[in-house]
Amino acid sequence: MVAAGLLVSTPAWALIAWTLNTEQFTPAEVATLEAVLQTLEPLVTARKPDGTANILTWQALYDLLEPKAQSFLDAFRALRGAQLGATARYFGESEAPDLISVGDEFILKAGIRTRLDPQFLPRPVFEAYQRMMAAMQQDLGRRLYVESGYRSPAYQLYLFLYYMPKHGHSIRETNRFVALPGHSEHGNPGRQAIDFINEAGINGEDHPEEFEALEEYRWLQQHAAAFGFTLSYPRDNAEGTTFEPWHWHYEA
Ligand SMILES: [Zn+2]
Repeated sequence: MVAAGLLVSTPAWALIAWTLNTEQFTPAEVATLEAVLQTLEPLVTARKPDGTANILTWQALYDLLEPKAQSFLDAFRALRGAQLGATARYFGESEAPDLISVGDEFILKAGIRTRLDPQFLPRPVFEAYQRMMAAMQQDLGRRLYVESGYRSPAYQLYLFLYYMPKHGHSIRETNRFVALPGHSEHGNPGRQAIDFINEAGINGEDHPEEFEALEEYRWLQQHAAAFGFTLSYPRDNAEGTTFEPWHWHYEA
């Protein structure tokens, strides 16, 4: 644990801001990223079963990191999507909203009843979600579940870092798939997003067409607007984000 007071005695070199290479990480940046992930992964893993990974605070992340790694995170927080060539808008980091737990939800993963990691939503979004799913259930005899609801900016950054190795350690490339903190509708209660998953565990993450082909998706296309939900990233969207048929945001 790094006490707040300890920062005062941090050597000056440690506080020198990183200038992140957004196209391709240098070996030093890769090494720092790996060290950060290794340090933070146990925390996130421990907090997934009760859903509190989604509401991680900056303090919780920074407390575990050395000053050099803390300033590495600072550099990410200073990045804006616009610097990386259009992509998601910057919404800013809003105050922690009045969140309520979605409650236990279960799907059938390869025929096995599996509990989803608990999720949180702002109250009006949760209520709209419930109304919409009651209607879908009535029409189709099945419904969708919340695979991801509210995510704090700190958890959003963790996810961004987590996915960087899968995208060649390129910030620009990773940003096509994962929003930077402050840029995600999952962390923006005024435009709260939900990632849906169906009861068979189809979420479209690896193959968007699988989710696009669902009857539940077609239902959303016809009826979601009536409940306040909009598809954020259709095919070939102007923001340059990849097609995300599972990601819908709510606006009152
Ligand atoms: Zn999403």
